[in-house]
Amino acid sequence: MADRFIAKADDGYVIKDRGTGKVVSRHGSIAAAAAVLREAVKQETRKQRPCITCGTLFWSEGAHNRMCDPCRTRSQEAPYQIGHRRGRIGARV
Ligand SMILES: [Zn+2]
Repeated sequence: MADRFIAKADDGYVIKDRGTGKVVSRHGSIAAAAAVLREAVKQETRKQRPCITCGTLFWSEGAHNRMCDPCRTRSQEAPYQIGHRRGRIGARV
C-alpha cells in the first residue's frame, strides 16, 4: 500500500507520497483530502476473496467483507428468527 499523508499547503491541503515527497493531489479542505485518502486506501485493500457462504470469488473491500453481494442480500431477506421463540433463559421466579 502506498504511504501517503495530508499536509497543509498555502491554498488548502495536499496529499503527499511519503516515499517520494511529491504532491499527489490538492484539496480545498482537510475533510476533502481525508475523504480522497480514505477512498484510496479502500481501493487498495480491495482484493478478490472467496465468499464464505457460496465460495464464489468476488471483489472484497477488506477483511470485514467476506460475503458476496447476492449472499448478503439473501441473508438480509431471510427470516429474522429461526425456530420457536422460547422464554428467557435463567431462573424462574
Ligand atoms: Zn456468496
